[in-house]
Amino acid sequence: MIRLDDGLYAAILRRGMSRRSFIKFCAAMTAVLALPATYAPRVAAAVAAAPRIPVIWLRGQDCGGDSAAFLGASNPTAAELVLDLLSVDYDEMIMAPSGAAAERSRMDTQEKYPNGYIAVVEGGIPTADDGVYCTVGGRAFRDIVREVCDGALATIAVGSCASDGGSPAAAGGPTGAVGVPQVVPNALMVSLPGCPVNVKNLTATIIHYLTFNQLPVTDSRHRPLFAYGGLIHNQCERRAHFEFGEFVLSWGDEASQKGWCLYKMGCKGPETSANCPTARYADGTSWPVKAGHGCVGCTMPGFWDAMSPFYRRLPSPLPFSPTVSADQIGQALVGGVAGLTVVHATASYVRQRRIGAEERREVPVAVADGALPPSAPPGAATEPVERPVPADSSDPTAATEPIELPGPAEPVDPADSSDPEAD
Ligand code: SF4
Repeated sequence: MIRLDDGLYAAILRRGMSRRSFIKFCAAMTAVLALPATYAPRVAAAVAAAPRIPVIWLRGQDCGGDSAAFLGASNPTAAELVLDLLSVDYDEMIMAPSGAAAERSRMDTQEKYPNGYIAVVEGGIPTADDGVYCTVGGRAFRDIVREVCDGALATIAVGSCASDGGSPAAAGGPTGAVGVPQVVPNALMVSLPGCPVNVKNLTATIIHYLTFNQLPVTDSRHRPLFAYGGLIHNQCERRAHFEFGEFVLSWGDEASQKGWCLYKMGCKGPETSANCPTARYADGTSWPVKAGHGCVGCTMPGFWDAMSPFYRRLPSPLPFSPTVSADQIGQALVGGVAGLTVVHATASYVRQRRIGAEERREVPVAVADGALPPSAPPGAATEPVERPVPADSSDPTAATEPIELPGPAEPVDPADSSDPEAD
């Protein structure tokens, strides 16, 4: 059961947030969710009447970046999020209790609100060696994730590590790190990959849940389409430079100072799905490409290995051929087109030569048949002539039809000319 004793809007007002700010916040969330602006009143009404949902925020193999993004959020501020929009009953980073008392808080929340809290998971989940590489309170983090997510109303995996292992799962990592979907495959969940998560997307996901009583529509990797449904490349402010072939070729060069495209510096924007260019980070002020660094594809499956090295153009293995790069395919295509052009030109030349040879062979045959002596003057063949029966005719007795050859060209009377310039 969800707590219904404390309306969210009342709590927000108690925190000093004005009605105007509340409406602006709801309008901004409506925009992030890619909903029509006309949905803003509905969002506001739903959020105002919503109960404060208990949250259990678990942290495993993480750097704390997602929690830092959460705490650095504004509109609403982190305090408002923590105290009003959500009731974060368990988060090791911000909660007062520690040790056994902290674990008791988590278990209390699970017992008090069975299937009535939201589980947020940050960080990878080690699975190698029975999960020994990350334990909390003496228990494998993997087992805690299973237990908490199984009893949750919904689960949100924040950041790339919780989504599918992230950097702890990179080649050579000994911990066998995976994401929430691999540990709790049947959980009702969304993944918000990114390094770190964009807190706007986290807030919008919660707002969507409060407004429609369901999680947003996702792709096959649990990523909500409102945030991950489009390529970064298609929303990037440097896209015009890409179209005009204006590229940064070295860090700090004139092109980089002009804000040209970072594709040749390894930008993975063309292969990465996320709303970074529109949602942006740091209160919507900037994002990596705006700041001058190419996208590293941190929202994509297999990040980090699949998007490394970061500073080379399309160096990562293509999905259908791990050993072939896009550059190699491009070169092969160019070579193939050039080869086909040569083959086509050669074939055309040979064909023309054959046609010419056949035409030359036909001339003596016509002369032998007496059809048209090569020395006959123009206009000499004015009488009908008979063509021989074709050699392959099945009826040798069939009569042959006379064929008229064209006569000589009539002399042109300048007076009859229809050419307007002749006058
Ligand atoms: S900077 Fe990156 S995302 Fe932006 S247009 Fe260039 S390649 Fe695309």
